[in-house]
Amino acid sequence: MKEEFRGDRDYITHFVMNSECQQMVRRGRRGSLRRSTGAALALCFVAPPAPAADPLFLAIRDADSRLARIGYRLATANAPLCDRQEPGLGLVLHTPEQYSRDLRSAARRYFKLDGPVGVEGVVDGSPSEEAGIREDDTLLGVGVARFAPADEGIEASTAPLRRAVAQLAELPSAEPLEVHGQHNGAPYVRVVRPVPACRSRFEVEIGSQWTARADGEMVQIGSRFLETYPEDQLAVVVAHELAHNILRHRERLGARNVDYGMLSGFGRNVRYFRQTELEADILSVSLLANAGYDPEVAVHFWQDFGPKHAGGLLRSRSHPAWQDRVTTIQQAIATLGPDRPKRPALLDTRDRPLNGDWQALLVRAP
Ligand SMILES: [Zn+2]
Repeated sequence: MKEEFRGDRDYITHFVMNSECQQMVRRGRRGSLRRSTGAALALCFVAPPAPAADPLFLAIRDADSRLARIGYRLATANAPLCDRQEPGLGLVLHTPEQYSRDLRSAARRYFKLDGPVGVEGVVDGSPSEEAGIREDDTLLGVGVARFAPADEGIEASTAPLRRAVAQLAELPSAEPLEVHGQHNGAPYVRVVRPVPACRSRFEVEIGSQWTARADGEMVQIGSRFLETYPEDQLAVVVAHELAHNILRHRERLGARNVDYGMLSGFGRNVRYFRQTELEADILSVSLLANAGYDPEVAVHFWQDFGPKHAGGLLRSRSHPAWQDRVTTIQQAIATLGPDRPKRPALLDTRDRPLNGDWQALLVRAP
């Protein structure tokens, strides 16, 4: 998979340039759209916005909720491995400003988005579900955090959502929190008892590209993965990206003055990128096992994805050969042992500079 580690500002620019359907829906752009092979999400590639709005919103909710379910499971089960935590609430949030201005009122109606932050979904079995918070509720604040009113005038932007999520991430991770919200217009205050979670936001990028990124604060997964793979294999991709965040790879590459741009796969930077890729693969095995997934799914996923993309995404010199990645993952599975949560030794290296010694991590395919 290709990852790009960028600062927020660059990241958003990149997002606008590359996403397709989401660009049209959530940012108001109307560029030419490539075909999608996906079923539900293909709707947004063929129909004009107005008549297709409801199925489109349904598809967006479905994709966001599936990723949120996987992210919540991984982030809460692996909280003991994370030195940066947030309250695990099990909420999938969105804001009106995410939608393009011509679709914003339709989105407000569809999602009953009657305030600054909406509940797009609630993860089954999560603290928010137990507290009685429901899909399409509106949130005004949580704990000491109060959300700024929606800015109806602005062009489509994810900035208000990122601000709201950052406010929540600052709250204590394991203390009861008062949620100030509305259900069908009726205000309520409910007490949620969060569970500690690794600090990370999870976001679907809707489009036809095979994208998966981690920028230190967020894991972003392209909708092609959600259309193509079942939950346990999707979890492999999410765990790999989450591992990059847990290991602070973006910061540590930055500390090495590694250029994140087009030339990142060349020269002296190669060893640092390969190190981060192999570390993410190795840690992903523990993340999956700790969350109750069979870690063998990582082998199955790479054996399927690797050969199909060996000439494309994975050809980058920054990524080791997929066959070697599979063997390295198999070795990590073999050394898992019985204890959960498994806390692999490489976590102890996250405060140190990258040393570029990827060969020490790699197990070559036979
Ligand atoms: Zn990676």
